[in-house]
Amino acid sequence: IEKIQAQIPMDQWPTEWFAVTNAIHRHGPLLTWLDTTPAEAVFEHPTAHDPDAILQAVTDAGLRGRGGAGFPTATKWRFCRENADPERFLICNADEGEPGTFKDRVLLTRYPEHLFAGMILAARAIGADKAILYLRYEYQYLLPQLEAARERIASAQATVPQAERVTLEIALGAGAYVCGEESALIESLEGKPGRPRVRPPYPVTQGYLGHPTVVNNVETLVAVAAIVGNGAAWWRALGTPDSSGPKLFCVSGDVAQPGLYEFPYGVALGDVVTAARPLGTRYAVQVSGPSGTLLPATPEQLARPLAFEALPCNGTVMVFDVRRDPVAIVHHFARFFAHESCGFCTPCRVGTQLIAKTFEKIAAGYATRFDLERLAPALEAMRLASNCGFGLSAGNPVRDLIAHFRQQLEAQLQPHDFIPAFSLDAELA
Ligand code: NAD
Repeated sequence: IEKIQAQIPMDQWPTEWFAVTNAIHRHGPLLTWLDTTPAEAVFEHPTAHDPDAILQAVTDAGLRGRGGAGFPTATKWRFCRENADPERFLICNADEGEPGTFKDRVLLTRYPEHLFAGMILAARAIGADKAILYLRYEYQYLLPQLEAARERIASAQATVPQAERVTLEIALGAGAYVCGEESALIESLEGKPGRPRVRPPYPVTQGYLGHPTVVNNVETLVAVAAIVGNGAAWWRALGTPDSSGPKLFCVSGDVAQPGLYEFPYGVALGDVVTAARPLGTRYAVQVSGPSGTLLPATPEQLARPLAFEALPCNGTVMVFDVRRDPVAIVHHFARFFAHESCGFCTPCRVGTQLIAKTFEKIAAGYATRFDLERLAPALEAMRLASNCGFGLSAGNPVRDLIAHFRQQLEAQLQPHDFIPAFSLDAELA
């Protein structure tokens, strides 16, 4: 892919090409620690053998989930370990499927042993005997090296008492984006079609095989190893009071240096984009991937801090040069969501199709404002009534297109106005 890329100017790359790099361009305390400390060293730390101490360290660090939602990790763990059912599971969600997102792939490629160490620590903290890595189907080429890392870390446990040992397993997904949603992932692990369950009950109460289960993202579990290795104060000293610690950002798109960047949470969006050297001065930024937020690169937006309490970001930053058509970008996302919807709930199944068909019509040049108006109740139904996060956020690109790029959108609509008293603003308010 890189050879083909070299022959075609970057601003003509399709968005599918954006996330093909594993390059790391900015190290911070987390990546530096990963580079300089063997994973096995974590087990020499006294905290590593005391479940209460591991939980306390993660509590004191204020670690929040790195998959996107930012749920406090220690709270999730506590819910699980306080459950009376003695059979519990730890699952690492490595089904990283959000377009433009590749931070977990870099961690799986470069630091798999630190990940397995973090999984063992998390499993000990919640009292689980087994920890399962659920790997994205498209990452199956990593299996041989992951298996080797698993063996090495498993043998590092040989010195600990039998009761403390955690069995590590690797399971492969089947190529569905929705299996990144934790309950669909669990269904898939159980051998069923990957359809999200109705939550609650959350997995901490009723997860894998009906037992209490913690599902954590790859970056979260790597962070657990780092926190145990360096202490909670080290982590707390970085970031903001509500979004502590360092964060990995994968920056891609129309930038000279696509790749991974480490910054503390609270960093301004503009600082992350500038570090990757955007190719143009006028561009749009997709924060958190297609299910996140599409923003114009105005000074106000670029000054916004990336943090759970400000502009939440799962680590994905895609930069689009002004020469790209925002309507075409949203059309691309719409096709993606329509293709990946599991079809279980009506708002998502119908809504994603309706959005995709509307954008096909716009691209074909015969859509009017009436077509857009028809989308408003569908977007609302998706936002309010979808069964899982997929449907709740699949309308976000359209919402942002209307909010920030209305001029470009309306320029592609036919002038005919079928509804005389039409107000899109009122519909979307
Ligand atoms: P969520 O807020 O419903 O849940 C987040 C986590 O907290 C889950 O593990 C959930 O079980 C737990 N949780 C929440 N409330 C709980 C409660 N009351 N009791 C016990 N546990 C509770 O979010 P979600 O729907 O799981 O995930 C949505 C996020 O996923 C979005 O922020 C999105 O950015 C992100 N996402 C990431 C990717 C990726 O590739 N990394 C892809 C798509 C979406």
